[in-house]
Amino acid sequence: MRTRRGAVVALLTVGLLGVTPAAPVSATPIPGSSARGSSGAPASPAMLLPPEIAAQPATRIVPGSVNRTTMALTATYSVGASLAWGSGRLSGQATITATNDSPAGIDRIELGTVLAPLGGLRLGVTSVDGRTVAPTVSGQTIRVPLGGVLPSGAAATVVVRFSATLRSSTRGSNWLFARANGIAELYRWIPWVSRSTTFARPNHGDPFVTPSSPAVHVVLHADVPLRWATTGTRTALSADGLTATFDAADVRDFIVTASRDATTRQATVNGTTVRVVSRRGFPSAAVLSAGVTALTRLEARLGPYPYPLLTISESAGGYGMEGPMTVWIPPNVAPSNLVYLVTHEIAHQWFYGVVGSDQAREPFADEAMADMATRNVLGMRRASQCSTARLDLAIYRYSSTCYYEDIYIQGGNLIDDARRRMGSPTFWAAIRGYLAAHRFGLVHTRQLLDAIDAASPVDFAARWRTRFPSLY
Ligand SMILES: [Zn+2]
Repeated sequence: MRTRRGAVVALLTVGLLGVTPAAPVSATPIPGSSARGSSGAPASPAMLLPPEIAAQPATRIVPGSVNRTTMALTATYSVGASLAWGSGRLSGQATITATNDSPAGIDRIELGTVLAPLGGLRLGVTSVDGRTVAPTVSGQTIRVPLGGVLPSGAAATVVVRFSATLRSSTRGSNWLFARANGIAELYRWIPWVSRSTTFARPNHGDPFVTPSSPAVHVVLHADVPLRWATTGTRTALSADGLTATFDAADVRDFIVTASRDATTRQATVNGTTVRVVSRRGFPSAAVLSAGVTALTRLEARLGPYPYPLLTISESAGGYGMEGPMTVWIPPNVAPSNLVYLVTHEIAHQWFYGVVGSDQAREPFADEAMADMATRNVLGMRRASQCSTARLDLAIYRYSSTCYYEDIYIQGGNLIDDARRRMGSPTFWAAIRGYLAAHRFGLVHTRQLLDAIDAASPVDFAARWRTRFPSLY
């Protein structure tokens, strides 16, 4: 009954703080749309005070402007969303409480969401500390003006109300936000702290960068019973089965698939549940086997997977894809490619998940390392089919033909050459040190290269200079 209690608390808080509730974006009831603290505690200190005291200014924002934003924010997310299965319409509300960890004040927050380029995003009233603001949308970025300056160390609460409609095919980039083949898939949909990043690219690169969040709370409602497969773990389910609550910690996204008729199959690896969620016809036994082998072998090299659950979900189509605690495998993957694809996406749990990076501007950092680890555990190293390329460019600079061959294959081989020269024990110890040093943070390619270089007497930097001319 968490949802009901949360709603009551929200009404009380709104009344005490003298905040006028904003008009909902649609008539659809939005579950779990109360403002919750990062701890998940339903009561706020303001409720314990008499109204005249609680009505003191509840914002740390001060007048002024600095034309500055940052990704150095510790942000928690409390999201409620309703999905109309038949129409594919999604409506909801995200409450983001963000602390400015940067050394200077900021006057706007940039949120990324594929709802804008793919879902025909419509924003309802957006507020900052209860005051209505006027966001602007460009590409996949919602720029939220804070109405003043949020000083270093201070926190603000941003509420974004949204509606969007799932695409009905998986063509192009549609597969990131679509309902097709009986499955809805929602990638990078929650408006999440990011920085302005171009969505369009000539390849299938991931145009995303998101800082990790210590607490994400998501309530999903649908008008028909659905089997959800998401980041996080399910912490509540309504009696009618239509409303499910999920919580996650230390994740840089919350991604979702849903279908009416999926079934599950699962196993355990070193205390982690590996769960395959799929519809009829999907090779769930082979995928589970590949997932168990991948997790076992990757943990032996990289150290423990940091969550209790890894969900491998059949997606509607498109590419294999990674999200925190979950990976997507499309239907109709060639059997010869299945083990590789499952392993590659699981390797991203460390390189993208544990250590994050700007996947658009520095794809080497996650893709080369994830693919190197994948091919190492599977013994699948091979030569590139494209000519020798720079490895320090953004996804926008690689052709669709050679993006994979350059970044994944050539990049992975460059790292694997280093492993051969220093020996596997030294190499993997260096990688584990890198993962520990930047756990749930964001890095640049150079930090990965430096971690490898520092572990060996070989002067790798001299060898790597021509491949990363912007870094050396
Ligand atoms: Zn990848």
